Amino acid sequence: MHELSICYEIIKSVEQIVIENELEKVSKITLEIGELSTIVKKYLLDCFAPAVENTMFEDTIIELETIEGIAICNGCTTNFNVIKNNGYCPNCGIRDMEVISGKEFLIKSIEAY
Ligand SMILES: [Zn+2]
Repeated sequence: MHELSICYEIIKSVEQIVIENELEKVSKITLEIGELSTIVKKYLLDCFAPAVENTMFEDTIIELETIEGIAICNGCTTNFNVIKNNGYCPNCGIRDMEVISGKEFLIKSIEAY
């Protein structure tokens, strides 16, 4: 399950920030996940609990935000939501596009003291 390795990646990155800034406790981590990324939000949340057990993140709130999956049509250059339109351009009906957002996976912010 790749969500678990993602959890560890996040924890490692945040730990780095904590050390660099000499922080003591992280109260909240906000993550941004693109609609078109391969990450399943529910799985990601499920694997945080075991991943943070006995670490400084045990009480940290994990918040997930979604980034819309937007593509630009290669036929008519219309921007459209990939999920809502099932991958077809709503203007000209072809399925030939360049994804411009929605594949991201980012640590948006952390709240710490
Ligand atoms: Zn089009």
